Amino acid sequence: MRKLLISVFMIGLYGVLLSGCDANKQQKEDSFKWQIDQFADLRIMRYQIPEFDSLSPQERVLVYYLSEAAKCGRDIIWDQNYKYNLTVRNVLEGIYKGYKGDRNSEDWNKFVVYLKRVWFSNGIHHHYSTDKIMPNFSEEYFAELVKSTPEENFSKELGGSDEILKNVSPIIFDPKIAPKRVNQVAGEDLVATSACNYYEGVSQAEAEAFYSKMMNPNDPAPISYGLNSKLVKKDGVVKEKVWKEDGMYGSAIQHIVYWLQKAVGVAENETQRKTIEALIDYYKSGDLKTFDEYNILWVGDLISRVDFVNGFIENYGDPLGYKASWESVVDFKNVEATRRAEIISKNAQWFEDHSPVDSQFKKKEVKGVSAKVITVAQLGGDCYPSTPIGINLPNADWIRKEHGSKSVTMDNITYAYDQAAQGNGFMDEFAWSKEEVEMNNKYGYLASCLHTDLHECLGHGSGQLAPGVKGDELKNYGSTLEEARADLFALYYIMDPKMVELGLMPSLDGGKVEYSSYIRNGLMAQLTRVELGKDIEEAHMRNRQLIAAWCYDNGKSDNVIEKKVRDGKTYFVVNDFGKLRELFGTLLKEIQRIKSTGDYEAGKALVEKYAVKVDYDLHKEVLDRYNKLHLAPYGGFVNPSIEPVLQGDSVVDAKVTYPDDYAKQMLEYSDKYSFLPLIN
Ligand code: ZN
Repeated sequence: MRKLLISVFMIGLYGVLLSGCDANKQQKEDSFKWQIDQFADLRIMRYQIPEFDSLSPQERVLVYYLSEAAKCGRDIIWDQNYKYNLTVRNVLEGIYKGYKGDRNSEDWNKFVVYLKRVWFSNGIHHHYSTDKIMPNFSEEYFAELVKSTPEENFSKELGGSDEILKNVSPIIFDPKIAPKRVNQVAGEDLVATSACNYYEGVSQAEAEAFYSKMMNPNDPAPISYGLNSKLVKKDGVVKEKVWKEDGMYGSAIQHIVYWLQKAVGVAENETQRKTIEALIDYYKSGDLKTFDEYNILWVGDLISRVDFVNGFIENYGDPLGYKASWESVVDFKNVEATRRAEIISKNAQWFEDHSPVDSQFKKKEVKGVSAKVITVAQLGGDCYPSTPIGINLPNADWIRKEHGSKSVTMDNITYAYDQAAQGNGFMDEFAWSKEEVEMNNKYGYLASCLHTDLHECLGHGSGQLAPGVKGDELKNYGSTLEEARADLFALYYIMDPKMVELGLMPSLDGGKVEYSSYIRNGLMAQLTRVELGKDIEEAHMRNRQLIAAWCYDNGKSDNVIEKKVRDGKTYFVVNDFGKLRELFGTLLKEIQRIKSTGDYEAGKALVEKYAVKVDYDLHKEVLDRYNKLHLAPYGGFVNPSIEPVLQGDSVVDAKVTYPDDYAKQMLEYSDKYSFLPLIN
């Protein structure tokens, strides 16, 4: 629930850097190619690891070991996303490597684009919409590809080309098979209609009954039941297949554990060593209580320079929200830029006390809101190639309350986005005036960094539940409302004089830029990511439209946000920033009340009224304008390559290079890190 994804407004930034954002420390070689590929709705970029050399050799070796662990779980996310993803990948890669026919034809190019899209999504469903990706080439052409590829290029598990065509063709081409990875349409059986591989043979009702029996509402330290298993029904019995070293996904988990054990040997300090050991114990036993213990150790480690996320973490991929996808991030603290986030954290209590939320729903004591800016060194699993720009973990509410949470913003990732997007015309197209564009050039990057900090460091960690409320009452509306709550907290405060007082922003103009940008994005620009005629489904997007549309509606009598049309083009312009801030405060108060009291009906009403439906004509206009810019709405990254430096047999250091071939990295990963059977 706590991932912050890059939003469309980032695309339009020009990268004017101000103090606070540390990106100006990064290399600014003109020769560095930030974007290396573009196809369909996707672009592939690179990110740098500035200050890698400022780590000690031992820390660099630690980064290397953790990075290997980050790549060893790649197959897990593929399999979690859909039972037949590894099968499809093996066939497509086999063709890519071995096809003997014409590699210059239009069909071949279409095939390559399809494969690149599947790589990007870790499977055959779009990474964002979760709709099945339909190829632009025919089933007949696919048959030709398979038949003109030597069979040794395919896994023996697939049983030869005839079998492949019989079994795999329908998976790829039949729109009725597995049309959606995560279905959220209320009223349908969300398990039966979702293609994700978290349940098999069970209905939604059976799954819910299974877990509600386990949960104890009075447990002060409730286990996150279901987080690390697949739920199946065999011979009429519903049971879990647990993901652990000697269980499901065991052959990949063994490799993860191997590298984590190496990491233990070069840990920076005792706390970090214990933390990694607890994670290993959890991977061995699959015991979720151990996972909680690990999280408590992890959240308490504020001294280590190198840090990581590794495990079954986020539940976006499960329509019921029990199951977590496997992901990994390896990073280290960006000391200079962390200053900004630390100032915010140090004042956490002030922000909590002054928020517009009802006092009964405020935390009396805001604990352990730690915050730092990190430099990402490696991405894995569900964070690769599409990555968040901020993370706030752990997810278990009781641990957050008792032990605090760790919040990070990924500065070198946002910087890479910004650099790759320079001068692409997006802002000029959707901003009302030249002045707006200029203000954005001046403050945009800093404002979005600050928004991320406020959202992650304070937003998610703020507020408290009323007695007896567990936190899962909002069900399928929970993610959207939680993101809205964190965004509103950020929006409310980014226009507070406190920002200037604390030295976080030179003037409140930065807040105004963020307001204009948020409204423009929420009401219009983000629609570039949605197919014409479709509803908004993704939680972060729903949240943004919910906030922007609610404020537009509720500020109408005061003309707070004005819809203007010029030369047939629509713009949304903020007329009154002070009133808009009040509206943000009012909505924050209401959404906090909804969360704190578990008011499902009110939450549902808000989301359904403002967050889901899209005005068809406006949507069409936005897409037309956007298409003329020839930009890709989604970005992802290839990883830097971190290689060991050997002295004899021992690893004494590590060094970084920056590969620039997307397909090559994907094939390399499939070659080196395929540890699972095709079907699990
Ligand atoms: Zn968030």
